[in-house]
Amino acid sequence: MPDESQAQDFRALVAEVKEYLLYFKELGVAGLNESAGAEHSPADLAKPAAQERLETFTPARTAPLRRNALAAEERAREQQREEASPSLSLDTSQPLGEQTDMAQRKRKTPELESPGPIETLFGTIMPKDEASLPRADETLEDIWNDIGECVRCPLNEGRTHIVNSEGNRRARLMFVGEAPGADEDAQARPFVGRAGQLLNKIIEAIGLRREDVFIGNVNRCRPPQNRTPTPAEAATCKPFLLREIAVVRPDVIVVLGNTAMKNLLDTKEGITKLRGQFMDYKGIKVMPTFHPAYLLRDPSKKRETWEDMKKVRDYLKTVASDE
Ligand code: URA
Repeated sequence: MPDESQAQDFRALVAEVKEYLLYFKELGVAGLNESAGAEHSPADLAKPAAQERLETFTPARTAPLRRNALAAEERAREQQREEASPSLSLDTSQPLGEQTDMAQRKRKTPELESPGPIETLFGTIMPKDEASLPRADETLEDIWNDIGECVRCPLNEGRTHIVNSEGNRRARLMFVGEAPGADEDAQARPFVGRAGQLLNKIIEAIGLRREDVFIGNVNRCRPPQNRTPTPAEAATCKPFLLREIAVVRPDVIVVLGNTAMKNLLDTKEGITKLRGQFMDYKGIKVMPTFHPAYLLRDPSKKRETWEDMKKVRDYLKTVASDE
């Protein structure tokens, strides 16, 4: 006869398995349904599309699901306790990822109470929930786990993948763009389309390789028709970028185009006016320059970008590497 704690463990396991099944279903893995997890055949999984979808099923993506299952179990226990003793009612508010069920998290934008502007080491940020707040000694994985299957802003509704930053965690140089485009959305990697190819050439032109630098965006979900993210969308996503900057601590950040520049620097001026001048973000040098997508539309502006990048290269030479 199992005791109560074994029964609870078992219920948590069942809840977790259900979450996984729902998640597979959401990914479109053929042959799965909630009630019969064993229905998918190896042949289904061998289909290229299904295989590709399975490749996105990484531990980082499942972590929020496990937390969700455990949180659901904890809430059920709390409800039981409350029913038994209503006067012991606790504040059960949870971070976003633990408030909603999995199907809602993917496609619905919940109504959230913002805690309001918060003064942090990185300046005033407007976090939508606790998970976007910086913590001491956090890692990039902590940040990406907090992002989870984000639905904090409406951009989640049109995305295929969240595009987290990538690159060298000890990079001395970081690039910040605006938001993913179609190629980035499909591959879950920043700057991999035509603008990304040009960015690679810009990096190589100053004697570095893409693997040497760290690359991110203000927003991590592709906006519809590649429109500029709204100020509210940018303000929702930006805290994660600021946290990554605090972890990587590059010597220089190159902001690519107006959106990146205005989100990192407190300025009303446009990129044409400010490009080429080093600015400051919390003691880190920031070089605004043109976005590679703009250079593709107007190649004559490459010359100015080259001037800006030479300044970056020369500054990096003057800063002693701590390697
Ligand atoms: N443009 C951006 O701003 N970011 C990308 O990742 C790709 C294109």
